[in-house]
Amino acid sequence: MWGFLFFVYFVGLLFVSFGWSYAVDNLWITLNMDYKKTWQSIFYFLKELLPKHAIDAWFEPVVPIGISNDEILLEVPNQFFCEWIESHYKKDLINSIKKVEKGLVGYRLSIGAGKHQIEPVSLIEKTEKRTPVHQNNLNRQYTFENFIEGSNNEFAKNAAQSVSQAPGENNFNPLIIYGGVGLGKTHLMHAIGNSAVKTNSGLNIVVVTSEKFTLDFVNSLRKNKTIEFAQQYRSADVLLIDDIQFFRGKEQTQEQFFHTFNVLHQSGKQIVMTADKYPGEMKGLQSRLLSRFQSGLSVDVQPPNFEVRVAILLEKAEQNGISLDYDVIEFIAKHIKNNVRDLEGAIIRILAKSSLLNKEIDRQLVRDVIKERTGGKLITGLSVEDVVKKVSEASNITEKDIVGKSRKMEIAEARQVCMYLCRDIMGTSLNNIGLYFGGRDHTTVMHAIKAIKKKSKENKKITKIISTIQKELGESLQSF
Ligand code: ADP
Ligand code: MG
Repeated sequence: MWGFLFFVYFVGLLFVSFGWSYAVDNLWITLNMDYKKTWQSIFYFLKELLPKHAIDAWFEPVVPIGISNDEILLEVPNQFFCEWIESHYKKDLINSIKKVEKGLVGYRLSIGAGKHQIEPVSLIEKTEKRTPVHQNNLNRQYTFENFIEGSNNEFAKNAAQSVSQAPGENNFNPLIIYGGVGLGKTHLMHAIGNSAVKTNSGLNIVVVTSEKFTLDFVNSLRKNKTIEFAQQYRSADVLLIDDIQFFRGKEQTQEQFFHTFNVLHQSGKQIVMTADKYPGEMKGLQSRLLSRFQSGLSVDVQPPNFEVRVAILLEKAEQNGISLDYDVIEFIAKHIKNNVRDLEGAIIRILAKSSLLNKEIDRQLVRDVIKERTGGKLITGLSVEDVVKKVSEASNITEKDIVGKSRKMEIAEARQVCMYLCRDIMGTSLNNIGLYFGGRDHTTVMHAIKAIKKKSKENKKITKIISTIQKELGESLQSF
C-alpha cells in the first residue's frame, strides 16, 4: 500500500516538475523571443503575399516593439496608418503572423512617437521656391495645333482654348472635359497647359492624374506632411487634374481635394479636370464636390465620325513620317471606329511591322494589322445588334434578356458571350460594349471577356457557339 502511494507521489512529482520546467521554458522563450527577428519573418511572408508598392508604403515603416502573450506589438506612424492596415491588410498580416509558428495569433498596433520620422522630403523646398515643379509633367506633344477638330470635339477644343488664353478669368472654371476612353481628354488638358505657358512662362502649372494626387496625399499622411502637400497643390495658378473618376470612394482624398479646389477657386486660379462621365452622373463622389464642379463648364468629347477619323489618320501618319495611300487610310478609318487611341495604335503598328519585317507598307501588311486589331476579321456594316441576334438564336435566350439586367446564369453567360464576340469580331470598345449591355462599366466587360476566354477552353458548348458565330458573321465581312 505504502509502496503504491509512494509510486503515485513519485510519478506526480515527476509530472509537476516536468510540467513546471516546460512552463518556465515556455515563458523563457516568450520573454526572450527576438521580436525583431519574428517581425522579419512575418515581413518575409507578407512580401510573398502583397505587391511591392503595398509593402513599401505600409509595412516598411512599421516598427516591432515587442511580443505580449500571443500578439506581436507593432508601432506605426499615425492613425491613418492603423486604419489603412486594418481595412486593407488585416487578413494578410494575420496569415503571415500565423505562419511564423511561434504560437502567435495576432497583432496590436500602436501609434509611435516620432521614431518614424522619415527623411524630410523635398516638398517644403519645392513649395518655398514656388518653382513650377509640375510643369515638367506637361506632355509637350499634346498641343492644340496637332489636335484635329471635328463636330465630336469642337466645343471642347474651343472651351479649352479660351481657358488657356485667360486662365481663371472667365466663367469656365472649373472646366471639365468628359467622355469615353481615348477621345482626346488628356490631350486637350495638356494642350491648355502648353498653350498657357507659352503666353506666360511664369505660370505655375500643376499637372497630375487623380491617381498621383491620391498617392501624394497618402504619402503626405504617412510622412506627416499634409501641410506641405496642401501648399504644393494650392500654389498652382493652373491645376490640371486628369481622370477624376479615380477619386470614386476615396473619402479622405475627396475631402482634401475639396479644400484644394475651394482655395484655388476662391483665389481665381484655373482648374481643369477630365472625367469619364458628365459630373452630374458620376457615382461615388461627394455631392458637394459635384455641385462645385457644376458651377463651371462641362464639355464632352465624342467618338470621331468617319471624316474626322480620316483627318486624324492623315495627321498621325504625317507625324510618324509615313505616307499612306488615301484608300488605305479610308480602310483603316472604316475598321477602327471607337477611339483615337486605337487609330493611332494602328498607324504605329503598321510602322512597326513594316520596319521589323523590313517590308514595304502595302495593302497586305495593312490588312494584317487591321485583322490583328479586330480579332482576325475585316468588317463592314456589322453591329452589336447582329451579334446579339446570333447569340440569341444559338442560345435560345431572347435578345431582350441578353441586353437586360437579369443575373440568371444562362442569361448572364449569353450576355458575356456577346461581349466577347463584339470585342473579338468588331473590336468594339469596352466602354461601348458596357453601354450597350445595360450601362455596365468597362471593367465589368473586361471581366466578362476574360471569363468567356477561360470558359471557352473548358466548355464545349460555348466554344461551339463562339466559333459558329465567328464563322457566320465572318462570311458577311468584306475584304479589302
Ligand atoms: P483620353 O484622355 O480621352 O483617354 P487621350 O487624350 O489620351 O484620350 O488621347 C489618346 C490619343 O489619341 C492621344 O495620343 C492623343 O494625342 C490622340 N488624340 C485624341 N484625340 C485627338 C484629336 N482630335 N486629334 C489628334 N489626336 C488625338
Ligand atoms: Mg486620359
